[in-house]
Amino acid sequence: MKRDQFIKIVITGAVSMTTLAAFKNFTDELKEQEDLMPVLFIGHGSPMNGIEDNEFSSRWTQMAKEIPVPSAVLVVSAHWFSRGTRITAMDFPKTIHDFGGFPQALFDVQYNVPGNPDLAKETASLIHSTQVELDHDWGLDHGAWTVVRHMYPDAKIPVLQLSIDYTKGPQYHYDLAKELYTLRKKGVLIIGSGNMVHNLRMVAWNKMDVPGYGYDWALQMNDKFKDLITAGDYKPLINYESLGREAMLAIPTPEHYLPLLYALGLRGNRDQVSFFNDKAVAGSLTMTSVLINPYNN
Ligand code: ZN
Repeated sequence: MKRDQFIKIVITGAVSMTTLAAFKNFTDELKEQEDLMPVLFIGHGSPMNGIEDNEFSSRWTQMAKEIPVPSAVLVVSAHWFSRGTRITAMDFPKTIHDFGGFPQALFDVQYNVPGNPDLAKETASLIHSTQVELDHDWGLDHGAWTVVRHMYPDAKIPVLQLSIDYTKGPQYHYDLAKELYTLRKKGVLIIGSGNMVHNLRMVAWNKMDVPGYGYDWALQMNDKFKDLITAGDYKPLINYESLGREAMLAIPTPEHYLPLLYALGLRGNRDQVSFFNDKAVAGSLTMTSVLINPYNN
């Protein structure tokens, strides 16, 4: 039942049992939409975004205010590559400082959020394509905490991480994401955290301070990714190696790209997509992020 049909029924008062049934379906669908959490892909960029209030991190803060308050956050981070799929299942995940050569202030950050072992077990039971291991060793790596601490600075909302199995290909990860869909109905905010375009070997260090500076191939691929996402044309995104030389430059290794496929795998029929932080940094990185949202953006 379309919205305009519904309006017509209300205006004309032409109500029959059939239209009443259709109306009930319509409102049920709306209710289901209301209960569905959005999904995010976030370009996390430099670890320094974890302590800087800049245009990227302030957008993360703002985003948290624009979407419903989640019951928990589940992050699929580029920085947790493992053999097999694991999920953090401890009461209090530690803050992991998985980087070098940054100021002491970044190492001093402790994001003391609770975990949620019951949700970890429940999530593991939702995934049938593989045996998900409950993990008590990891914690929150910088792909998770540098972003989420800006979104939920009170540190009251439990945060979990799901690892990326490095032995598997892109299609596998896209399909696995679909098994997590139920979590959206339970108020869990799922975040894929990586970067669509991420080539550290080609970083233009002398252009770090030039806002929006991107190589031609980086900007081209950024546009291409956005076009395919908007069109819901995921096949080329999953088989990204067929996208040519520019794609190979944008994705020299898969870890920062695969979290995007998790977010896209979680997109339902009625979700709208929009982009934010749509900018290149230092030539060979883009911060472009995606909001997958059942509400009108
Ligand atoms: Zn990273």
